[in-house]
Formats: sequence, C-alpha cells, structure tokens
Amino acid sequence: MLRNFKVLTPSSLNETLYIINNIEQPYRFLCGGTDVLVRMKDNPGFVKVLIDISKISELAKIEEHKSTFVIGAGVRHETILGCSHFIDNYNGLIEAVAAIGSPQIRAIATLGGNIGNASPAGDSIAALMAFDAEIELRSIDSNRIIRLEDFFTGPGKTVLKNNEIITKIILPKFEGYKSGWKRLGQRRALTISKVSAALAISVSKRPNGSFKVNDIKIALGAVAPTVIRARGAEKFLLETPNFNRAAIEQACVLASKEARPITDVRSNAEYRSEMCGVLLGDLIERVNVFE
Ligand SMILES: Cc1cc2nc3c(=O)[nH]c(=O)nc-3n(C[C@H](O)[C@H](O)[C@H](O)COP(=O)(O)OP(=O)(O)OC[C@H]3O[C@@H](n4cnc5c(N)ncnc54)[C@H](O)[C@@H]3O)c2cc1C
Repeated sequence: MLRNFKVLTPSSLNETLYIINNIEQPYRFLCGGTDVLVRMKDNPGFVKVLIDISKISELAKIEEHKSTFVIGAGVRHETILGCSHFIDNYNGLIEAVAAIGSPQIRAIATLGGNIGNASPAGDSIAALMAFDAEIELRSIDSNRIIRLEDFFTGPGKTVLKNNEIITKIILPKFEGYKSGWKRLGQRRALTISKVSAALAISVSKRPNGSFKVNDIKIALGAVAPTVIRARGAEKFLLETPNFNRAAIEQACVLASKEARPITDVRSNAEYRSEMCGVLLGDLIERVNVFE
C-alpha cells in the first residue's frame, strides 16, 4: 500500500523550527510514536506530514540548575526512571512514569509526547502538575515559558501554535516534600487511567504535637477535559489549623467535588468523582505525612 503521508527528519532543533515555520500541510511530531502512530492507524488521513524529532540531541538532555531540573521534551520515560535526582525527590513522577505502558513503551515514549498528546488521562501530566512544572515552547522567533497547567485547553487541545514545539519541561526543586501518584485502571498495566491523582506535600510538627501543612499540590487526571489541580482541597488543607485525619477526610470530599468527569466506556462520572477523594486519601496515608 502506498503511504499517504511524508516523513521529514530534521537533524537539529533549528532545522525543526525552520520546517514548522514554513509548513502548510497538517503535521505532527514523531518522537516515540506510541500515540501518533496508533492514531494514524485508526485515522490514516489525519496527518499529511510526520516530523521525526526522535534523534534530535538538544531535546534529549537533562540539566540540573540552581533551583530547577530542566528535562528535554524528547527524554524517554525509561531515562527518567534511571535518574537518581528524580528517584530521590520526585517519587510522584517516578510512580507515574513507571506505570506508563510497558517496558517496551517506556523505552521509546517521551515526556514531550505524553504532554503533546494532551490526553486528560496522560499519566506523567498529573505528576508534573503536582510539582508545578513549566514548559518551554519555541518557535523560530520566540521562546515562551508557561505553566504546564495553562498548556491544555481540552482533550487533545493545547495552546501550542502551529510553528511551535515543546522543547523543555522545567521542574522546580522540591526538597523536603513527600509525593506520590496513583491511578485506577481496568488492569494494573497497559491500561488507560479511569482516574488518577498526584500529590506533593510538605508538613511540619508544631511543638505542641499538632501538624501543619506548609505546602500542598494535588493534581487529578481523567476527571475533567484536562488534568486539573484540586485548588479547593489544597486551600482547605493549607489553612486548616490542625492537619489531622478529620481534615484529610474533609479535603477528600472537596477534591471529589472539584472533579468534572464524564461517563464513557471506561467508567462513569459518579464513580470517577468519588474515586478522586479515595485516591487522595490513599496517597496522603501512603506518604506517611505524620512521621
Ligand atoms: C500500548 C500502549 C500503552 C500506553 N500506556 C500509557 C499509559 O499507561 N499512560 C499514559 O499516559 N500513556 C500511555 N500510552 C500513550 C503513550 O505511550 C504516551 O502518551 C507517550 O508518552 C507518548 O510519547 P511519544 O514520544 O511516543 O509521543 P508521539 O506518539 O511521538 O507523539 C504524541 C503527540 O505529541 C506530540 N509531540 C511529541 N513531541 C512533541 C514536542 N516536543 N512538542 C510538541 N508536541 C509534541 C506529537 O505531535 C503527537 O501529537 C500508551 C500507548 C500505548 C501504545
């Protein structure tokens, strides 16, 4: 069968920026291809040009700076899992990335691809959002850094312009936090999340033995048109004078109310809402905040 699309293989980021600045046909980037090729199989006409960015070394670097880690959009999930910086301080990200697909998928699929695909069920997205990640979007003549949270406008929809590419994911340093990620799916592996939750929390004990939340970030996946932050639950826990089990229960109820899920083939809206609270409660329990 004759291929009805073209593949371009730029050898540098600059060449990629030049191509996307001048291209007129509908295109997609090909990084690991684990989303885009599946989509093309289901709908062969949806793209006319694939721009293969999988070998561009500028997109595959991880750099440590004074207050951030900068991860190239082409960094593969497997690479994240082998990085001691992330293992030590970003447990939520490690848990999310370790659950993506299978070893074969993680060996080729990338963080940039998970973000670029813009699924509300994208597993690394919830974890990255719970760490206040930002992303860099580059075009031939501009460079903007936005919060990851502001990138998505709906399922599969983003603010990325036709002449832009995601180049970097910027993670603030998160020392002294406890974090985790958890999902519910049809199976334990090779499944799409029905609902997921990510948490990063810093707690301290007062001299009188009570606990106080210094900072908390909660992200919920697959329960709204985009991954969302549960700001109401976060605010409640930040302001609660006594962080205890009753406060956690209340926050779980608030998180469930913040979800705006749909019913689809994988689950129904009511279950998804309720499970947001359950997952949040499990995560807070699991990260041992009171130790
Ligand atoms: C069997 C299987 C299991 C899976 N399991 C999971 C799972 O458990 N959890 C999960 O979240 N996902 C899962 N996925 C989906 C997929 O593997 C991930 O979303 C993966 O991270 C996509 O990365 P990729 O490099 O393969 O993206 P690609 O398929 O190469 O690209 C995906 C999209 O992102 C865009 N894109 C890629 N790079 C950039 C960039 N630098 N800038 C702008 N846009 C870009 C492309 O244009 C394309 O639209 C699974 C897929 C398969 C086939």
